[in-house]
Amino acid sequence: MRLGIVVPCYNEQEVLPETVRRLEAVLADLVAAGLVSDDSQAWFVDDGSRDKTWELIESIAKSNRRFRGIKLSRNQGHQRALLAGLMTAEGDALVSIDADLQDDTAVIRTMVERHLEGFEIVYGVRKARTTDTFFKRFTAEGYYKLLGVFGVDVVFNHADFRLMSRRALDAMAEFSEVNLFLRGIVPLLGFRRTEVPYDRAERFAGESKYPLRKMLSFAWEGITSFSAMPLRLISSLGILVFLASLGVTLWILYTRFFTKAAVPGWASIVLPIVMLGGLQLLAIGIVGQYVAKIYLETKRRPRYFVDRVV
Ligand code: UDP
Ligand code: MG
Repeated sequence: MRLGIVVPCYNEQEVLPETVRRLEAVLADLVAAGLVSDDSQAWFVDDGSRDKTWELIESIAKSNRRFRGIKLSRNQGHQRALLAGLMTAEGDALVSIDADLQDDTAVIRTMVERHLEGFEIVYGVRKARTTDTFFKRFTAEGYYKLLGVFGVDVVFNHADFRLMSRRALDAMAEFSEVNLFLRGIVPLLGFRRTEVPYDRAERFAGESKYPLRKMLSFAWEGITSFSAMPLRLISSLGILVFLASLGVTLWILYTRFFTKAAVPGWASIVLPIVMLGGLQLLAIGIVGQYVAKIYLETKRRPRYFVDRVV
């Protein structure tokens, strides 16, 4: 089996030399153990870095046959860089891993062993988040739970450290969406899958390329690309408010015609406000349902994958 290791890199000159050392050791170990073929390689994707990242990648790729480099024309963000790598790299199975060595490179061997047992997708799952700040841990775990509530199938505490077989990669290639949230797409593929736990380390060097702003937009991406739940919530709210407004309407009419409490002009002002408010929210909710459909249709997602035929 030929293995490929895909590493998206954005301004990673501080960590790259160490990443190269570790991945070289991992590949040498796997080849020596006879688990992967000798032409297995690591593929660095330069995501439009502004430092010396590409120069480093280029020189290692020229001097060491275990390393290859892919340079994107500009910065596209982690998800697109990762996809570019997964669609370009060669191999019967590809492992994706961050450049900063937060993911345990030793786990790659376990992933390969799992794959050889017949699993098409092997997810790396963080055991504990001891190295994360309280804020990061709290928001991240809360976010995964929220996704679950919204009906998005994601693997809890799994980032983009995973192995995918050629078959799974071919299936993923059929997703043509532009707004990428890869960890939402992979579970949609199906196929035999398993998880391997690992401890997440601190970033080896350099600083995070995911500032809060990017993290928030990524989180929003995950919800809006996979769930029409926010639109459904508006519909439900619309129905509730509409029913309530009918109740209030009855009360207004009753007060106007059967009691002496109504001030002149009151009913004619309050009634349209209440009724129109309810009607509008209901109408927006219904429009929302169609928008959700249109949205899902425009993604043109594949409708099924055949696992096997007997
Ligand atoms: N990355 C990238 N393009 C970007 C931002 C990040 O390719 O625009 C890469 C980065 O080089 C690293 C990975 O994505 O390999 C994850 O980024 P980082 O470790 O900074 O994120 P964090 O672990 O802090 O969430
Ligand atoms: Mg990191």
